[in-house]
Amino acid sequence: MALLDPKIWTDKIYINGWVAGGGGTRDVVSPATGEKLGSIGMASVADANKAAAEAAKAQVGWAATPPEQRAAIMRKAGELFGTYAAEITDWLVKEAGSIPPKAGLEIHVAEGECFEASSLPSHPMGSVLPSNDPHWSFMRRRPAGVVTVIAPFNFPLILSIRSIAPAIALGNAVVFKPDPRTAVGAGAAIVRIFEEAGLPAGVFQMVNGGADVGEAVVSAPDVRVVSFTGSTAAGRKVGELGAQHLKRTHLELGGNNALIILPGVDVAKAASAGAFGSWMHQGQICMTTGRHIVHESVYDEYVAALVEKANHLPVGNPATDQVALGPIIDANQTAKVQSIVDETVKQGGKLAAGGTHEGNFFKPTVLADLKPEMSAWKDEIFGPVAPIIKFSTMDEAVALANNSEYGLSVGILGDVGEAMKIADQLNTGILHINEQTVADEANIPFGGVGASGTGSRFGGAEANIEAFTEQQWLTVRPDIAPYPF
Ligand code: NAD
Repeated sequence: MALLDPKIWTDKIYINGWVAGGGGTRDVVSPATGEKLGSIGMASVADANKAAAEAAKAQVGWAATPPEQRAAIMRKAGELFGTYAAEITDWLVKEAGSIPPKAGLEIHVAEGECFEASSLPSHPMGSVLPSNDPHWSFMRRRPAGVVTVIAPFNFPLILSIRSIAPAIALGNAVVFKPDPRTAVGAGAAIVRIFEEAGLPAGVFQMVNGGADVGEAVVSAPDVRVVSFTGSTAAGRKVGELGAQHLKRTHLELGGNNALIILPGVDVAKAASAGAFGSWMHQGQICMTTGRHIVHESVYDEYVAALVEKANHLPVGNPATDQVALGPIIDANQTAKVQSIVDETVKQGGKLAAGGTHEGNFFKPTVLADLKPEMSAWKDEIFGPVAPIIKFSTMDEAVALANNSEYGLSVGILGDVGEAMKIADQLNTGILHINEQTVADEANIPFGGVGASGTGSRFGGAEANIEAFTEQQWLTVRPDIAPYPF
């Protein structure tokens, strides 16, 4: 049977199995053509609470499942992403507007996340603590319980599985709320993979929905830990709600990432890196290069090289044509990108390339000669726009890069010695020298500072164990201890 046969998931959510949701249904729409691709079930707030309660019941048995069996299921899930790569790619292209190589990258990382997670069940889960009392004293880590995972639409598979896989491997149950715009290729697909991998019923639940269902799966009494990836505005709400209900919240939020181009750089290579950083997946990535900070000695040449690329990169429907850029996710988001570009031009920014759209296809855009107070420089655009500013001194470059509420990713291109001199002064969770700002691997501790998140990390055993387990102090002595009472 096909992984994503519509008969399985049409008009359904997943609570212990495929069921109709109390929130009705919603069309799945192609962002490229507007065509209806299918229809998903939507959850109600009551469904969200039920999913969490059922997950809590299933979690007890799952946590007690031998590590070898948990590891085998994670390995199987990783293999299945490979087996069903073509089918999942097709959905990530049609539903999310991904070009095929981007979809392939998502599937490759999803496989890697499951394989990495398969090492977690047998990982050391604590330590022996010295004690002044005549007892043995240990710290042991236990699963947190039920973990809620909320994901965005842009890299929907990676940003879901990077939390789902380690949380499940470590003995938790997961309630997953995908973005409803990508709930087949990065929602139903994940449910089906774990079904086929043999995960016991109830350990993984999926409730499709919007902000109301998102808030319900944060506040549901059975949920202990929340892993949220999305905008800073929604992240603040999730953080507030989590604090009210005393939930541990891991928040991975927006970015406005700087790429510093040093004097003496190879301009052709730098422009290739800058173009990829700003336009990959239409600039809809938290790590997108949102600010190009370019030394005056190479500025004109760099802008010209970026304009040349913008004017030649093909934009269109990735399901039918070989293109470099596909569509923006929907009309609202397209209108938002257009309004930031227009406002910046009104503020005196120079539109050097692009700046317009047809349907949801936005042309790769270059905005040059910007000032730090202009909209395209200050705001996270989430569209294919390369905003550029000129600098003279290294101190200026550092000040420009740090002048942002966000702190997710920074790239520095050029002489490594010069880059090292400024690297330690940059406020950022991720720093690449001689690479642009967009990158991810399953084993690295991914995360940002400032308005990009709470400094939490996903990826690699150390960060994942910290994120999805609780510590317990455990002591043992041969006889009951004597007390003065
Ligand atoms: P969004 O915050 O609107 O939505 C993200 C998810 O949160 C969706 O599933 C949405 O339904 C849900 N949601 C929205 N409001 C909620 C609420 N009040 N309570 C609970 N859930 C809620 O984000 P978006 O605009 O769709 O996605 C793009 C944003 O995500 C950008 O800001 C981008 O930088 C950020 N992002 C961050 C990372 C990272 O790892 N730091 C990765 C990718 C995207």
